[in-house]
Amino acid sequence: MSLSAAASSSTAISARTFSSDLKAPQLGSFRVPNQAVTFSQRWSSVKAVNAQPKRSDSIVPLAATIVAPEEVEKVEVEDYVKLANELGSASPLEIMDKALEKFGNDIAIAFSGAEDVALIEYAHLTGRPYRVFSLDTGRLNPETYQFFDTVEKHYGIHIEYMFPDSVEVQALVRSKGLFSFYEDGHQECCRVRKVRPLRRALKGLRAWITGQRKDQSPGTRSEVPVVQVDPVFEGLDGGAGSLVKWNPVANVEGVDVWNFLRAMNVPVNSLHSQGYISIGCEPCTRSVLPGQHEREGRWWWEDAKAKECGLHKGNLKQEDGQANGNGNGAANPNGTATPDIFTSQNLVTLSRPGIENLARLENRQEPWIVVLYAPWCQFCQAMEASYDELANKLAGSGVKVGKFRADGEQKEYAQKELQLGSFPTILFFPKHSSRPIKYPSEKRDVDSLMAFINALR
Ligand code: SF4
Repeated sequence: MSLSAAASSSTAISARTFSSDLKAPQLGSFRVPNQAVTFSQRWSSVKAVNAQPKRSDSIVPLAATIVAPEEVEKVEVEDYVKLANELGSASPLEIMDKALEKFGNDIAIAFSGAEDVALIEYAHLTGRPYRVFSLDTGRLNPETYQFFDTVEKHYGIHIEYMFPDSVEVQALVRSKGLFSFYEDGHQECCRVRKVRPLRRALKGLRAWITGQRKDQSPGTRSEVPVVQVDPVFEGLDGGAGSLVKWNPVANVEGVDVWNFLRAMNVPVNSLHSQGYISIGCEPCTRSVLPGQHEREGRWWWEDAKAKECGLHKGNLKQEDGQANGNGNGAANPNGTATPDIFTSQNLVTLSRPGIENLARLENRQEPWIVVLYAPWCQFCQAMEASYDELANKLAGSGVKVGKFRADGEQKEYAQKELQLGSFPTILFFPKHSSRPIKYPSEKRDVDSLMAFINALR
């Protein structure tokens, strides 16, 4: 059975190893010798027992082999930060070509059934052999399954589907029902149906290719590099740093992905014509209105920050580390103090008594918009420029712009009284109501924030 191939049959590779047994790590059973990039590897010279001088000692282990002392082989380690910088302005096609060239059969494209079909088109255009895998959660839209079939036929490939463990799914559904994610969040279901199958897939690879883009989620994906050592998952060799993650379209805007798909006449999921942009499982994906951000069509009942299903959890790593780690969040991970942010002179810094007063007032002289933030939070840092610009724009307009540092000992109060779910949380305090209104969107550009304010003032 053919696994995954470029149009040319000369580049086709056999896939029988991947599609017949879904239990073992599925991917990566083929090896490409002489990888251009390898990680530090340990090797042992292993000698058969019968190669040793005969011994009569009966407590000699009955193992079939005797392991000689370990030797450490020094191998070149690629600097992926440097490589990411070098490829910063490269086209997706160049990045894809580099990825496939470096990792050969030990790399595969993660295909979700949405516009990341662009990755398959780019891989096809390189003329190199490539592999594609997808997670069949069992909850996808019928249109997505049809699309998988179309893609397989269009490119002459076999997608390597990964399925969840049936015992785990059964336990979850029997104990909590089919829609538990609406009650207690999508993490548990995603862990069973997506993350664990993904982890199994990646354990058979040395690198993977994703369709992550910076513009997909201003909160969680704004720092996605074109290539990185995967901060979350392990690859074939095991351990931290054993997997490389390529994001060839990291710097491409959604609109340009679509221009590319149209220009190349690439088949697309029919859900897109029904208003869907980001496509995942059927119960957790909906169409969005014009102007809404694509991620607002996913897990819309949850807080914006949590909209990463675990597949790209490394995007949240820094914030998680801070939130769970060093208490007051006053220092960054290496222990140095983090300078304050939102420093426009048109911005009011609210103390705890200040925001308590603001929250108590039934009638204010003017409405306020206030960001609850933590200076170490990368998402707060990412919106600093637009929030400062907003403050400058609103100066003298009758709307006050403020900030309240809500980490450390203020966090509990902010969570209880100010609807803080994650950083940053943006609140609008109307003129004639004490109850603040939480900004519901992940779009934190000036125009979106202005639209929110104008709708409420
Ligand atoms: Fe479950 Fe929804 Fe996650 Fe799919 S997206 S795995 S249905 S929670």
